[in-house]
Amino acid sequence: MRFEYTEEQRLIRETIREFAARELRPHARRWDAEGRFPASLVPKLAGLGLLGMVIPQEYGGSGLDPVAFALAIEAVAWADGGVALTVASHNSLCSGHIVLAGSERQKRTYLPRLVSGEALGAWALTEPGSGSDAKALVTRAERRGDRWVLNGTKVFVTQGSLAGVYVILARTDPEGGHRSISAFIVERGTPGLRVGKHEDKLGVRSSDTAEIVLEDCAVPEEQMLGAPGEGYRNALHVLERARIGIGAMALGLGRAALEASLGYARERRAFGQPIAEFQAIQWMLADMATELDAAELLVMEAAYRASLGQPYQKESAMAKLYASEAAARAASKAVQIHGGYGFIKDYPVERIYRDVKLCEIGEGTSEVQRMLIAKEALA
Ligand SMILES: Cc1cc2nc3c(=O)[nH]c(=O)nc-3n(C[C@H](O)[C@H](O)[C@H](O)COP(=O)(O)OP(=O)(O)OC[C@H]3O[C@@H](n4cnc5c(N)ncnc54)[C@H](O)[C@@H]3O)c2cc1C
Repeated sequence: MRFEYTEEQRLIRETIREFAARELRPHARRWDAEGRFPASLVPKLAGLGLLGMVIPQEYGGSGLDPVAFALAIEAVAWADGGVALTVASHNSLCSGHIVLAGSERQKRTYLPRLVSGEALGAWALTEPGSGSDAKALVTRAERRGDRWVLNGTKVFVTQGSLAGVYVILARTDPEGGHRSISAFIVERGTPGLRVGKHEDKLGVRSSDTAEIVLEDCAVPEEQMLGAPGEGYRNALHVLERARIGIGAMALGLGRAALEASLGYARERRAFGQPIAEFQAIQWMLADMATELDAAELLVMEAAYRASLGQPYQKESAMAKLYASEAAARAASKAVQIHGGYGFIKDYPVERIYRDVKLCEIGEGTSEVQRMLIAKEALA
């Protein structure tokens, strides 16, 4: 077995790393404090192709293979978790759903706008009463003439208050099961779509998270995305792919924590020597490095299988589960290695410690990943 990245994949990672070091890292602390997405970043992200990574070239995107996509997300997360979540969700969730299920007209209408950054994409599945149990959603889509009329509330929508294009999951039959759930593309400015509460978060604070309220929001019938009743099944496929992105995001955050800890351990002195000389510190660094390398293998295996068109549901669940928990452990150790300085905002590990928690929750909690993995193992 030979495991190495291609020349092109390495180049993509290096290019994004350089961009992230120059354009993201120096501002990460300020964006975190401000708690909002820096909209001025959109043209730069688009210029580098970061907004069209999953979109085929015929619609203006770069159609990156899943391994290169994961490397790009990792490189962004190394600099800023919130920007990584923005890029990952714009690509994997909103664009990914349109690429998966969109009609030719929908693809030609929306994908070029998502690539260019003219519109950021949002994807709204979660509701106040349904998160892990997504098929319990209650947002209604009612047929009135040649229109679908949406009513309901979506919560925790990344890009909720910024998006130009929303993919919204709703139920066409209130008594129906998950086969009554369909997806709809709704444009910003459609009457009846209103941005509700903007969330003030623990971490990934440079990403935008908001509530979306739908009040008699009418869209033409051709805005249904995919066949009627196919929404839930497609959403599961979208999440399956998206979890590779969250695993990669965790990896980038974990690597940044390790890197900061290695530097700090070499410089900080106690009892007359650098703390890197203490075995207790070395063991923490060793565990961080080992677990992050293991996480990389799982994330890239899932991505590689996806690029070959092989099934990868179990692999993407394992990748997300392990990478997010390994990165959270690494961030916790990083704070410990920094001592009191790890607890204050002057050092990046404090922000990483908060940012990485999202990876254990978003796009399916760790408990949900364990359920998926156990189901496959027991099948
Ligand atoms: C910053 C952020 C961004 C987000 N972005 C988006 C977005 O863009 N679009 C979107 O649709 N959603 C988004 N979400 C929502 C996210 O996907 C959900 O928060 C997540 O799926 C969990 O759902 P919940 O919050 O309702 O928790 P719940 O489902 O209520 O879970 C609460 C707890 O119970 C556990 N639990 C639930 N069911 C089981 C079970 N069967 N067995 C064991 N334990 C269980 C969970 O693991 C968790 O620990 C975002 C969330 C955050 C925080």
